[in-house]
Amino acid sequence: MSEEKNNVVEGTGLSGTGNFIHNYIQEDLKAELNKIHTRFPPEPNGYLHIGHAKSICLNFGLAKLYGGKCNLRFDDTNPTKEDVEYVESIQEDVKWLGFDWEDRLYYASSYFETYYQVALKLIQEGKAYVCDLTPEEMREYRGTLSTPGKNSPYRDRSVEENLDLFQRMRAGEFPDGSRTLRAKIDMASPNINMRDPVLYRISHAHHHTTGDAWCIYPMYDFAHPLEDAIEGITHSICTMEFEDHRPLYEWVVREAGYVENPPRQIEFARLGLTNTVMSKRKLRALVEDGLVDGWDDPRMPTISGLRRRGFTPESIRDFCERIGVSKANSMVDSSLLEHCIREDLKGKAKVVMAILNPLKLVITNYPEGQVEMVELENNPENPDMGTRQVPFGRELYIEQEDFMEEPVKKFFRLAPGKEVRLKGAYFVTCTDVIKDENGAILEVHCTYDPETKSGSGFEGRKVKGTLHWVSADYCVKATARLYDYLMLDNPDDPNGEMIMNPNSLEVRECYIEPSIANAQRGERFQFMRNGYFCVDTKDSKEDALVFNRIVSLKSSFKVK
Ligand code: ATP
Ligand code: MG
Repeated sequence: MSEEKNNVVEGTGLSGTGNFIHNYIQEDLKAELNKIHTRFPPEPNGYLHIGHAKSICLNFGLAKLYGGKCNLRFDDTNPTKEDVEYVESIQEDVKWLGFDWEDRLYYASSYFETYYQVALKLIQEGKAYVCDLTPEEMREYRGTLSTPGKNSPYRDRSVEENLDLFQRMRAGEFPDGSRTLRAKIDMASPNINMRDPVLYRISHAHHHTTGDAWCIYPMYDFAHPLEDAIEGITHSICTMEFEDHRPLYEWVVREAGYVENPPRQIEFARLGLTNTVMSKRKLRALVEDGLVDGWDDPRMPTISGLRRRGFTPESIRDFCERIGVSKANSMVDSSLLEHCIREDLKGKAKVVMAILNPLKLVITNYPEGQVEMVELENNPENPDMGTRQVPFGRELYIEQEDFMEEPVKKFFRLAPGKEVRLKGAYFVTCTDVIKDENGAILEVHCTYDPETKSGSGFEGRKVKGTLHWVSADYCVKATARLYDYLMLDNPDDPNGEMIMNPNSLEVRECYIEPSIANAQRGERFQFMRNGYFCVDTKDSKEDALVFNRIVSLKSSFKVK
């Protein structure tokens, strides 16, 4: 059995001591590394998504668990794609998820001078050189997985010449792409990352924090280990694709002189979710091409999209806990995330009656103009949430699906001649079906039995079906947005494709019991039998509420 397999305990997340990262840390703690310090290092080139949430929970969670610290660090060494909009959204999202970096908010760009000094030191020690190969030539010289690379003809430049050229690179004397600074390691290394990797490139680009102060920028593989070392990070947790870069990470830390308690890079498998695209580049394309309503479209897997949809921070943390941490890349079923939000909301969200597909029901023997209040529990799973009064009358709406003129077998809801219970009110029996000239059903007519009032102790007979309903005169009209997965395929799978689901959004006019009128933006409800809904924070108006369906009550998504 491989080491990885031994260490993976599915679903244990942070609380499980079987998580292999805990094992590493416990080893380190035994070796008297007595405090742990992690970091979450997003590049501010997009909004955070549910995959980032996994990394946030892991980094902040480990720090919390071991009484250590976790920094928030913007990995902003690449000037062209970054933006303050992202810097702000990232902070908002990390806070919303429930994590606190206290006073430790850092920018990798604030260490530009330090990276430069380390580069000078490497040059002086003969461990770095300025190379004039073009990108194409460099690719040729690099070799392949099976053949070694060749030394660059510029590899043996003198320290003086290298210092002079590198300082002139910084001074802006050379055009973009004309020269690089490379580490002098080993062009024959079996690990391609160690074949004299580029440390600096020339780019006359404006940077969002340093402006035009620099026209050379460090490569990720050079800057990242230095950022960690500068901040005293003990465990640098990253995703599996950096595994082969680890020798270079260690080389940079060591050669820069951080020899005491150097940061330790540990890789884990990134999160992939079914029917979900998580690549920031592809998410940005969806936004820029107008295929979604911004980064916070409720169908997006971004933290801001999930928040707007109605997900809670608790449900996302619970999800991250359940998926656990392993080294084996795998695809998690989106239904697990849906399960987590149902679990969180079931005892918390107020349960109300809303009709998404209205059908008029008239109780012909109920006095016209009479209104009676019936009492309903706010949450049957949580009696502490109390009760409320809901108006009942002669004209109601029920769901179209709750009536069948010619009922199929085992249909226990309303049909001609059949009796059902109206939730919290009376038994009614269908006596008539009113249709238009084309045969479409306009209304169903019923009679009610006054003896059967809910709570009256009536035991005369039983009915199988209970329907939810709203009063036609006192209901509130609102908009309900029903969602399905944004993607038909699994675009993050190696063979997956980004095929948009044409039916990912369905908008309906719905009727809701009047208690909803005071709903606040962002408030979450269970619509009886129809799922959990959240009042949209952007599009809702005081007299025109918009509800996003977070999730149906049972997993009933159409797309596989
Ligand atoms: P980019 O392609 O823009 O670099 P990225 O997904 O690596 O995208 P970063 O902003 O660099 O984005 O990510 C910040 C941190 O979040 C990194 O440590 C990264 O490993 C982690 N991370 C990103 N995506 C996932 C994911 N799907 N699952 C787990 N962790 C992730
Ligand atoms: Mg990255």
